[in-house]
Amino acid sequence: MAYSNSPLVGYTQISPNKTVPRNNKIDRITIHCTAGKVSVEALGAMFHEPSKKASSNYGIGPDGRVGMYVEEKDRAWCSSNGSNDHRAVNIEVASEAYHPYAVTDAAYEKLIVLVSDICKRNGITKLIWFGDKDRTLNYEPKNGEAVMTVHRWFDSKACPGDYLYNRHPEIASRVNTLLSSSTNDDKVIETGSAGMWSWRKWSSGVAECWGRKQHNGVNIVKPWGNVYFQVLDAPDNYPFAFAEYPSVNVTLQATHGNGWALNNYSTYSKNNPGNQYICNAVEIRGIDVTANYSVIGRWK
Ligand SMILES: [Zn+2]
Repeated sequence: MAYSNSPLVGYTQISPNKTVPRNNKIDRITIHCTAGKVSVEALGAMFHEPSKKASSNYGIGPDGRVGMYVEEKDRAWCSSNGSNDHRAVNIEVASEAYHPYAVTDAAYEKLIVLVSDICKRNGITKLIWFGDKDRTLNYEPKNGEAVMTVHRWFDSKACPGDYLYNRHPEIASRVNTLLSSSTNDDKVIETGSAGMWSWRKWSSGVAECWGRKQHNGVNIVKPWGNVYFQVLDAPDNYPFAFAEYPSVNVTLQATHGNGWALNNYSTYSKNNPGNQYICNAVEIRGIDVTANYSVIGRWK
């Protein structure tokens, strides 16, 4: 997967303290606290200093602004564990300088949005917090999963502080809600009309197509067992080919008399509903028939 960076970033100061590129795909998220109320600029200045030998991928200031110091394609030097840093996106969140290292609501809310954004761009649909070091480090995330790890598992530190540590279950839960609601957020991405057809395409891949075709002077006179039929010409091709055979519903309206429709499956395709037979129990001549089509299927 190609790496990208968050569009939420408002300040960039790339740090020399990094390993280029990371050697593992992103399947961990590691949240830290700065143990001091620093702005994204102050954090960037600190990480810009080679002697500090420290960095993070992102930082969130007390005002909720987001800074970037190491691109997602690269490994930040953040969690005192090279293997973790190669797998994780490390995020520093500005906190108080004392226990329990509380963060502002603005920073916390932005953290939820930033983690969701990181997951979406990296194909992660499920964020997991086990709350247990051994279980987490022995767990191999499946495709589409990421696990949360914490700095205190790798070094004798309070990081990310109890304030954020105790909220890890809530962070995972809120991020997963955002991830699932965005995939269920189906919406119309294209509408149009051409010739007899109107259509609507949905982001989920569903397409609807509807229209009508007029047939004048139809004679239902061809014998078929005890009934009579006539073949109605196929309508125009759909404005696009369906990816799979769509579901076609045809109803007929006639000026007098009546008839029922049967689909001719030999002419049914992904491009066209094919022709129909109009059938009746008795011979009828010269009726005008409107064929109404309602088609639903997948455009991708
Ligand atoms: Zn840390």
